[in-house]
Amino acid sequence: MLILCRQDITESQRWAVLDVAARAGFIAQVVGPRVIALFGDGDTRELSLLPCVAKIVDHEGELLFASRNGFRGTREVPAGPVTIGRGFTIIAGPCAVESREAILAAARTAKAAGVDLLRGGAYKPRTSPYSFQGLGRAGLGYLREAREETGLPVVTEVLDTDDIAAVAECADLLQVGTRNMANYALLKRVARAGRPVLLKRGMAATIAELLAAAEYLLVGGCPGVVLCERGIRTFSDETRFTLDLAAVPALRAATPWPVVVDPSHGTGIGAYVPALARAAAAAGAHGVMFEIHDHPEHALSDGQQAIAPEALPALVRDLRQIAGIARAAEGEKE
Ligand code: PEP
Ligand code: MN
Repeated sequence: MLILCRQDITESQRWAVLDVAARAGFIAQVVGPRVIALFGDGDTRELSLLPCVAKIVDHEGELLFASRNGFRGTREVPAGPVTIGRGFTIIAGPCAVESREAILAAARTAKAAGVDLLRGGAYKPRTSPYSFQGLGRAGLGYLREAREETGLPVVTEVLDTDDIAAVAECADLLQVGTRNMANYALLKRVARAGRPVLLKRGMAATIAELLAAAEYLLVGGCPGVVLCERGIRTFSDETRFTLDLAAVPALRAATPWPVVVDPSHGTGIGAYVPALARAAAAAGAHGVMFEIHDHPEHALSDGQQAIAPEALPALVRDLRQIAGIARAAEGEKE
């Protein structure tokens, strides 16, 4: 069972709830600012009379915050001046922040092409310990400069609980990557950073597992999540991962939070990225995120899946057009 407390619950009231719960025969655990979980066979009568308790629910595995629960539209997620979930959001930038000059150039290119958010990792989760791990704090500083110059909000990955405050200070949207989707200790801490989160689907995670990870963020106090399909592991080795575009309508049916697609990591092949970005827009995604690089052959990470900046303006134009058609088609069905 879950106790859903009132929005304005105080710390001392929370202690009182825990005390009453223990005396009523429950093991009680604080799950988030407003939610306390109850385990065991206690009596809820006294608890339900507490003024700070809004309701006690038998949740039976239901998600309180990540599921639709009857909510019809899309929950909008503000990322700086951009609102994800309203219109179609295009996120582009290099895999990693490689230098001040490179990220500033990428930001200018992205801005000129009509991209909405700049991406770029300062902390990189690499398969090999000998691969480029990102510029860390220096990279965050360059991202901040890029945002100041272009006005583009920034999404960048947080890998480690130790770096959450520094990354949150720089990022308008915090990214939790595929390898950390189920790092629940990280999710609990990221939830309290006061920033919305772009949560990437674990490469072997089901939709239900992705939504449960989003629930960790939302119940923990995160102001909003954007769910990202970025390819899953299958038997097919034609592409780096298998981009699961069915995840788009599946997620949209299950959750009100915006859904974006990353065809760069989803395929690992730059030449396939425009086609799958267009397919994502047609499938009803609220946005896409892809990697760009001036000189893919010299990139310090993921060069093979980057698209050339020259391809951006036409792709941005096509994506907006296709997203418009998809939205109109959905409207017609309703
Ligand atoms: C990335 O977007 O930089 C990244 C590392 O993606 P993923 O976590 O999907 O591999
Ligand atoms: Mn990458």
